[in-house]
Amino acid sequence: MQLLRRQFEIIQEHALKEMPYECCGLLAGVRQPDHKGDYENVVYEIAPCANVLYSGKEHGFEISFSEYIDVEREAASLGYGIVGSYHSHIGSVAVPSNSDIDFAKPGHSMIIISIKNMQPAAVTSWYRREEGGFHQEPIQVIE
Ligand SMILES: [Zn+2]
Repeated sequence: MQLLRRQFEIIQEHALKEMPYECCGLLAGVRQPDHKGDYENVVYEIAPCANVLYSGKEHGFEISFSEYIDVEREAASLGYGIVGSYHSHIGSVAVPSNSDIDFAKPGHSMIIISIKNMQPAAVTSWYRREEGGFHQEPIQVIE
């Protein structure tokens, strides 16, 4: 996946700002076919969202359906689609949890920012395959 430098910084700033809760947001951009016939998500805009999980926001997140629809509409007006999401993990590794697997849509990328000792310790991205499951994908930060 590809992500602009500024957006890469904003998601980490968002993660720190929401402490001790998980932050969350959506990624808008395009699905671009690569030379192998697979798709790569290219992110041009990010939309920080409210974590509306009723309880347990320290280790979970939920984006409301209405906010998702609003972001999707705004992205479409720019010629983009939603290509994934991002959220933070507080004090745990940047690997998807079971509820993360349920949230991710096929073809989407899920970025996870791991926060340890009040600092971003790792940022990873996970591609949700059409046939189920994730594989980790490199994050290419564009200057
Ligand atoms: Zn998670």
